[in-house]
Amino acid sequence: EVILSIRDLRANVCGKTILRGVNLEVRAGEIHAIMGPNGSGKSTFAKVLAGHPTYEMTGGEVIFQGKNLCEMQPEERARLGVFLAFQYPLEIPGVSNLDFLRLAYNSKRNYQGLEEIEPLDFEDLVHEKLDMVGIDPNFLTRSVNEGFSGGEKKRNEILQMAILEPKLAILDEIDSGLDIDALRSVANGVNQLASSENATIIITHYQRLLDYIVPDYVHIMARGQIVKFDGKELALELESRGYSWILEETEAKV
Ligand code: ADP
Ligand code: MG
Ligand code: MG
Repeated sequence: EVILSIRDLRANVCGKTILRGVNLEVRAGEIHAIMGPNGSGKSTFAKVLAGHPTYEMTGGEVIFQGKNLCEMQPEERARLGVFLAFQYPLEIPGVSNLDFLRLAYNSKRNYQGLEEIEPLDFEDLVHEKLDMVGIDPNFLTRSVNEGFSGGEKKRNEILQMAILEPKLAILDEIDSGLDIDALRSVANGVNQLASSENATIIITHYQRLLDYIVPDYVHIMARGQIVKFDGKELALELESRGYSWILEETEAKV
C-alpha cells in the first residue's frame, strides 16, 4: 500500500527556489530517513507537506492515500492523518495539554463523522498512551509546552502523535538538543508507534538518531533534491565520510 507518492515537487520560500524536483514514494510499514547538509531544504520539504503557508509549492504533485494534498489546507491534511512534529514546538500558555490533546482528537473524530469522545473515556485513552510512550502523567495538567525542556517538548510531540495515530508522521530534527536519555525515550516512543499500517519520515542531520530508530531507506537531500538513496547503511557511510563526497559525486546531476 502506497501512502505517499511525491513527483517532481518544487517549492519557493519568499520568492527563492528551494525545492528543485523531489521524488519520494513511501509505503505502509516503512520508515524513511531524510538526511543532508544544513540548508539543503529538509525542513522546507516537511513544511510543504504539512501545508505551511510561507512555503509555496510551484510544481509537481503530492498524493497522500490517493488524494491530492496540494489542494488542502493544513488542518485538513492533519485530519486526514499527516502529522508534522516541528523542530521548534509551539508554546500555548493557558491551555492544558489534556485539553489540547482532546481538542485535536475530537477534531479528527468530527472529520471522520464520529461523535466527540466522553472526557472520562479520553482520560483512559491518554493514560494508555502515556504508558506506551513512557511519559509522566503530570504532563497533562501543564500548559502546552510552556516551560518545558527541549526533551520534554519532544516527548510531548510523541504523545500528541500517539493520540492522533497519524497515517504518516514527519519528524523534523526530533533529536536536536536532546541528551542521550531523552533521545532514547523519544526514539522508543517513535518505534512503539510505527506499525505495518503507518509510515514515518525522519529528518535528521546526524546519524545518531538512526542508531535508535532504524530506517528502511535513507535519502540524501542536497540543493533541494534527493540526490542519493539507499538502505540504512548509507547513514553509517555519512557518519564516517561526511556529506562532501555526495555533493561532489552528484554535482554533475544538479
Ligand atoms: P534544512 O532543513 O535542510 O537545513 P531549510 O529547508 O531549513 O534547510 O532551508 C533551505 C533554504 O531555504 C535555506 O537557504 C534557508 O535559508 C531557506 N529558507 C527556509 N525557510 C525560510 C524562510 N521562512 N524564509 C527565508 N528563507 C528560508
Ligand atoms: Mg537547518
Ligand atoms: Mg531543518
